[in-house]
Amino acid sequence: MQDYQAPAELLKNRIILVTGAGDGIGRAAAKTFAAYGATVLLVGRTIKKLEAVYDEIEAAGHPQPAICPINLEGATSKDYDDLANTIQQEFGRLDGLLHNAGQLGTLTPIEQYDTETWNKLLQVNLTAPFLMTQALIPLLRESGDASVIFTSSSVGRKARAYWGAYAVSKFGTEGLMQVLADELDDEHNNIRVNSINPGATRTNMRAHAYPAENPIHNPTPEQIMPVYLYLMGSDSQGVTGQMFDAQKKQP
Ligand code: NAP
Repeated sequence: MQDYQAPAELLKNRIILVTGAGDGIGRAAAKTFAAYGATVLLVGRTIKKLEAVYDEIEAAGHPQPAICPINLEGATSKDYDDLANTIQQEFGRLDGLLHNAGQLGTLTPIEQYDTETWNKLLQVNLTAPFLMTQALIPLLRESGDASVIFTSSSVGRKARAYWGAYAVSKFGTEGLMQVLADELDDEHNNIRVNSINPGATRTNMRAHAYPAENPIHNPTPEQIMPVYLYLMGSDSQGVTGQMFDAQKKQP
């Protein structure tokens, strides 16, 4: 899917929510989806960053996005219900949901791993996507052709020492993706559910995880967008429960 070439109007009239839309991969995804015609709902915790993305999308002449400030660390079911009600009132449906926001925590042996950091990572990376998805499923059903994408990691498929709660949260994310995909895999729902491992990508998170690495060797978020477009658009209809790698050629 690295080679996927999206048609210019792939996402025309689609309503797509992106979490962590203010920075890194989420920022690139929000701008890319808008460039292919989507109305993008920008979810994140730093309003200034979301406003900057909003302004860039507007300046480029793409469909007007919307800003939905949510801190995934403290958000409750009620916050997600309020989000769903707002989307229901404004659009009546949701066509795409990209769970992208995430935190790294610390690279620490399990023996010394701090409980507070553990709980925060599980909350932001795993429980928040669960709660948000649960609240938004009725709206995704209204789409008739909806796509949910979870964001994984290579350590969410094969763990490595010191990656602690981050790795465990990404294994949980793959599990959530598979359970949900199986539950929704019928014609009545028309909701496909997949995960993407972005691979090493030039963002702040990567720089924190690998401070000694020269970032120039990693692709930019914009360069890994083909698989995101493929899964958000109608070319992936019927594809569900699959794990994708943004930087590998799919067989
Ligand atoms: P990033 O540059 O650090 O961006 C993370 C985004 O998540 C930011 O917009 C951040 O908002 C948001 N976020 C963090 N905590 C949040 C919270 N409590 N509530 C709401 N939003 C929150 O990271 P990235 O590299 O783009 O990562 C995006 C996704 O790809 C993550 O799920 C990550 O695990 C995954 N991933 C990345 C790589 C890589 O090499 N970059 C590799 C594998 C997987 P603020 O800017 O406001 O903090």
